[in-house]
Amino acid sequence: LSFSSQASWINHEFKVMGTQAKVKFWSELSERQAEQVVESIVAEMQRIDNEMSPYKPTSLLSQINRNASKGWVVVTPELYHLFTTATKISSLSHGAFDITYASVGYQYNYREKVKPNKQFIAQHIQAIDYQAVELAKNKYQVRFTQPNVKVDLGGIAKGLAVKNCLQILRDSNVKHALVSAGGDTGLLGDKRGRDWIVGVKHPRASSQQAVVLPLNNEAISTSGDYERYFIEDGMRYHHIINPNTGDSAREVLSVSVIGADPVYTDALSTTVFVKGLQKGLALIESIAGYEAIVIDKKLTLHFSSGLKN
Ligand code: ADP
Ligand code: MG
Ligand code: MG
Repeated sequence: LSFSSQASWINHEFKVMGTQAKVKFWSELSERQAEQVVESIVAEMQRIDNEMSPYKPTSLLSQINRNASKGWVVVTPELYHLFTTATKISSLSHGAFDITYASVGYQYNYREKVKPNKQFIAQHIQAIDYQAVELAKNKYQVRFTQPNVKVDLGGIAKGLAVKNCLQILRDSNVKHALVSAGGDTGLLGDKRGRDWIVGVKHPRASSQQAVVLPLNNEAISTSGDYERYFIEDGMRYHHIINPNTGDSAREVLSVSVIGADPVYTDALSTTVFVKGLQKGLALIESIAGYEAIVIDKKLTLHFSSGLKN
């Protein structure tokens, strides 16, 4: 039985969470074991989608959105912790990151070119308030302290999916891997003696890359205004919402955040996108171990201080 004859890169791409997911890893496992690793990763992403999608009526998240304004809803420890992290980033960002953006945001349908009208926004904007999500102290339960609150974890759940899949790979003794879900990528180790090269898409030419980065053992998440959008009267309506206005955030075109934890890179890329160039980079500078690349409206790239060389 020879390991080396079986050692190889395993690649698998699939659709989940309304996006394209990918895993690539160096396998010294048997073919059967490598297949099982791939299956576990697909299953983990599907599990998170089934639990956290606001579009699946049976998901735990949908149950929360239906019932948490009426009283406490029992949640999983995992979801409780994700809500806790989301709240932490909301207070850190003074509400730029806010999962209750969905109180208005659920009215957008980018494929159908539908957006909430001014009256709907005026009536529901006060329901965008992360402080209206109350986490029980001694039990895994949540409730909303206001009517009309809706939550959506689209800005953080793919980061969790990537994080959990990296753990599956580590537990399988894999040393070199890349896992991605949409704009969120996690890297385990290096690419066998070389760096992983991760590209940031050009925001207005999707086949081109605005910048490529050599990275190992960290995560990178990109938020862009070109992923899900429609244009009406010359305005771009896209999927990252300014919680103050209920409208799409219009300060910059793309933000990538690099750091150890994919949950944080995911949430922080959305956060910096909403905050814009100056305030967004200032926030990143205040968080140890996290760096950012911002592409502004003139397509100029800006780097946080740890990336400047
Ligand atoms: P992607 O979905 O491509 O990974 P992001 O990580 O930036 O991109 O997440 C965008 C998603 O975040 C949106 O589809 C929406 O579900 C959610 N979102 C939008 N605006 C906000 C916001 N202000 N705070 C938190 N989440 C948001
Ligand atoms: Mg994000
Ligand atoms: Mg993301």
